[in-house]
Amino acid sequence: MLSRLKQSLAKKLGLGSRKEHTPASRPAVRIIPRSEHGLSRSNISESALKVLYRLHKAGYEAYLVGGGVRDMLLGREPKDFDISTNATPEEVKQLFRNCILIGRRFRLAHVRYGHEVIEVATFRAHHEAGEEGEGVMENGRILRDNVYGTLEDDAWRRDFTVNALYYNIADFSVVDHTGGMDDIKVGRLRMIGDPQARYREDPVRMLRAVRFAGKLGFRIDEPSEQAIHALGGLLEEVPAARLFDEALKMFMSGYAVETYELLRHYRLFGHLFPDTEKWLRYEDHHYPRTFVARALENTDKRLQEGKTVTPAFLFAALLWEPARKEAERLRAKGEGGLQAMQQAGDTVVARQVQRIAFPKRFTLQSREIWEMQERLTATGGRRPFRLLEHPRFRAAYDFLLLRAESGEEIDELAAWWTSFIEADEAGRVELSSGQRSSGSGSGKKRRSRGGRRRKPGQSTPAES
Ligand code: ATP
Ligand code: MG
Repeated sequence: MLSRLKQSLAKKLGLGSRKEHTPASRPAVRIIPRSEHGLSRSNISESALKVLYRLHKAGYEAYLVGGGVRDMLLGREPKDFDISTNATPEEVKQLFRNCILIGRRFRLAHVRYGHEVIEVATFRAHHEAGEEGEGVMENGRILRDNVYGTLEDDAWRRDFTVNALYYNIADFSVVDHTGGMDDIKVGRLRMIGDPQARYREDPVRMLRAVRFAGKLGFRIDEPSEQAIHALGGLLEEVPAARLFDEALKMFMSGYAVETYELLRHYRLFGHLFPDTEKWLRYEDHHYPRTFVARALENTDKRLQEGKTVTPAFLFAALLWEPARKEAERLRAKGEGGLQAMQQAGDTVVARQVQRIAFPKRFTLQSREIWEMQERLTATGGRRPFRLLEHPRFRAAYDFLLLRAESGEEIDELAAWWTSFIEADEAGRVELSSGQRSSGSGSGKKRRSRGGRRRKPGQSTPAES
C-alpha cells in the first residue's frame, strides 16, 4: 500500500517513467584506449593504485571514477581518488586489513593508508521509488541508495556526465557511458538524465553544479541550468548537517568567489543564507555590498598561498551584514555596543544554524570575532595591549581590515591598529596614550561619506 502510494507520487513528480534511464535510450558505450587519452598512472596516488591492483588481482572489476578522473583528464591535480568496483563492501573488507565500512544511506568501504583514505564504492543501480529493499525513496528523494548493479548502471546514476568517466585498471582505458568525454572537451556540465527529476532526488546536486562550474570554469548546459532556476527552493528541505559539509566544499576549496557569484546568479544563495541575502539585495548608501565577496577573495588567496582558513572566519564573514545590522538596531534602542553585538550574535547564529549546521566550536569563534570588532574600538590605555593577547586577535584584526576595504567607515581605526601592531613597545605606548596618531584618533568618530567614490550611474535603491 505504502509502496503503491509512493509510486503514484513519484509518477506525479515525473519520476515514474525512466525514459532517460532505460537501457534502450542509452547511447553506446565509448571505450577510449590508453593511447587516446591523457590520463597517466603517474598522477594517481600510490595508495589508490594499490587498491585498484589488489581488487583486479582478486578477480574484481576496479575503476577510478569521479572527480579524480575528471580532474586528471583536465590536467588538474585531483583532490581525492574514488574507486568503483563490482566487489560488495563486505568483499572489499575481506581484501584489505586497513578497511572499515561506513555509511547507511550509502554504504562504502574506506581503505586507509596513513592519512590518505581511499573510498571504494560498489557499483550501484538507479532504483525506482517504492521499490522494496535497500533503495529507499520518499517524495522523489533518495533516502537510501544501496541497490547494487553493473558499471553501466553505476554510470547512469551519477550526477554529471564529466563525473561518470571510469579509468579501468585492467587495460588503462577510459569507459564513457554518458558522453562525458565530449563534455570535458567543450567545458560543459550536463546532468545525467532528466535534470528536474535528478535535482528532486537530491537537491544538493544543484549546489554541486554551481561548485563544479565555479571550480572548473565550465558552463552549465541549458536544461540543467533551467531546472536550477525552477527548483532552487528544494534546498530548504536538505538536512542542515549535509549543507554544512557542502558549504565547506563550496567556500573552502579555493574557488569561493566564483562559486558565490554563481550561487547568487542562480538565486540559490538566499536559500542557504537568507538573512545575508536580504541585506545584499540593498546597496549601502549607493554602494553595492562587497564585504562577503572580499572576504571570500581573501579566503581563496590564503588557500593559494598555502595558508590556513577557518570555517569560523568564513561564517563570521558570511553573516556579518545581518549581525552588524541587528547590532545597529539594538544600539539604536539604547543597548551598549558590546551587549548589542553579543545579542545580535545570539539571534543571527540561532537562525542560521537551522539552515546550515555550523558546529558550535566554529560559531563560538565567529561570535568572538564579531565581539572583538566592538572591543577593537578601544585604543586608549592598557586595553589595546590586552587585546593583542586575545586568541582571536589576528582573525579579528584581519576582519577589521576587510571591513575597512569594503567601505565601512573605519579606515582610521584600521590604520591605528596596523600602526600599533607594527610599532615597538615605546611606539605602542605613545599610540595608546593618544600622543602619536596613525593619522587618526580613536576611530570611533565616523568620517563623512563625502570623500568616497561613487560608481557612475548608480541610483539609490529603496531600503526596505
Ligand atoms: P571533488 O571531490 O573534486 O569535490 P567529485 O566529483 O569527486 O568532486 P565527490 O563528492 O567526491 O565529488 O563524489 C565522487 C563522485 O560520486 C562524483 O564525481 C559523482 O560521480 C558521484 N556523486 C557524488 N555525489 C553525488 C550525488 N549527490 N548524486 C549523484 N552522484 C554523486
Ligand atoms: Mg571526489
